[in-house]
Amino acid sequence: MSTVPVRNYDIPELRRLDVAHHLPAQTDYGLQQRNGGSKIITRADGCTIWDGEGKPYLDGMAGLWCVAVGYGREELAKAAYEQMLELPYYNTFFKTATPPAVKLAAKIAELAGGNLSHVFFNSSGSEANDTVFRMVRHYWTLKGQPQRSIFISRWNAYHGTGVAGVSLGGMKAMHAQGGLPIPGVEHVMQPYKMNEGLPGESDADFCARAAQAIEDRILEVGPENVAAFIGEPVQGAGGVIIPPEGYWQKVEAICRKYGILLVCDEVITGFGRTGNWFGFQHYGLKPDMIAMAKGLSSGYLPISAVAVSSEIVEVLRAGGDFVHGFTYSGHPTACAVALANIAIFEREHLVERTRDDTGPYLAKALQRLADHPLVGQVRSLGLLGAVEIVSKRGTNERFGGKEGTAGPMVRDACIERGLMVRGIRDTIVMCPPLIITHEEIDRIVSIIGAALDACEPELRKIG
Ligand code: PMP
Repeated sequence: MSTVPVRNYDIPELRRLDVAHHLPAQTDYGLQQRNGGSKIITRADGCTIWDGEGKPYLDGMAGLWCVAVGYGREELAKAAYEQMLELPYYNTFFKTATPPAVKLAAKIAELAGGNLSHVFFNSSGSEANDTVFRMVRHYWTLKGQPQRSIFISRWNAYHGTGVAGVSLGGMKAMHAQGGLPIPGVEHVMQPYKMNEGLPGESDADFCARAAQAIEDRILEVGPENVAAFIGEPVQGAGGVIIPPEGYWQKVEAICRKYGILLVCDEVITGFGRTGNWFGFQHYGLKPDMIAMAKGLSSGYLPISAVAVSSEIVEVLRAGGDFVHGFTYSGHPTACAVALANIAIFEREHLVERTRDDTGPYLAKALQRLADHPLVGQVRSLGLLGAVEIVSKRGTNERFGGKEGTAGPMVRDACIERGLMVRGIRDTIVMCPPLIITHEEIDRIVSIIGAALDACEPELRKIG
């Protein structure tokens, strides 16, 4: 529970300054100006955030998929405070390391298990994937196969906003800004049956087709030229896309068949989200590298990590300097907060609670929306959930004849009713803090239901 007193802010002035000086992330700056500035969020506690007008919102997105332990955790503030007084910052360039960085690396290796023995730190998910990109290519060069430089990824994947992340990602709107992707990334179909399944196609047939697309592309570009396959165990920013049963086993088998590295981007799926510490564990995979961020510190400080297999580390060890790293790699204060965050996970059994209690509860609660006339599908895994809005049940037909009309409208209706969720195309997605209660899950579902009801007449007019 937060103990800080509620402060008053001059909200009109902050909104004026926002327009005058601030360029927020992933924002339409014309719209920001027409709206007279962004909504100012001033405080939070547990699963609730408040805006500057004092209006509370249930945070169905855990910030941006990150605040796993909820807001207002004094012990995380204390961990940061104490570390800042002892050693706020030191680098890991000068043959140096700090106690929190070393301890956190060991802790992550323990949680990831298997042969993921070593950890490289960065500050964001995008940076983690930059590290993946460079480390994978460096590894193959050291192995005497420098031509193995191609990454296979999926359309509609999200791997970050830097040049490597956007290129590895499969978001066409992002590719269109900045002349991306860079060469050497091949995108294949995503395992999104709702949109990409053929009429009458079974889950098993769709799964086989989605996996075959990967093998076909590997054969097309030459297996000897492929460095790695990268994928999110469950696509998050793409719309909480949960692959069909057996997909990941097939992908892993294809990677092994051609000696290609398997990289799981666990930036969203890591740290309990799926009911396991990592999404790859849910699917029983043995990735060679995993990227993580967000839940690692519950967003209290920016930190990300890449866990790397001992086989890769053996090769790197024989290769001299790895000339890659950030000023803030292994930032001691961020690492101290991440360690304290993981201690909360363990003490409160948040992973087990997600797997055995709140995850199944969310799945059941979402079923109450499954019969709604606007709902084409509900789906969830652990505490990642999605509601697909369609104009005609039993199809993937969308209002206005294309995706992206209903989603923002229903999202805004949710926000108006005190629930912060995200609308991705026509999918309402949710990713609440892992401390969420049954009552709060019920509230999420009933607000989405009310928002759908409220939007239905206007959407029917659009047709
Ligand atoms: N990978 C995945 C799977 C993500 O979901 C995100 C962020 N949503 C990123 C990478 C990029 O992380 P960041 O925004 O911290 O750079």
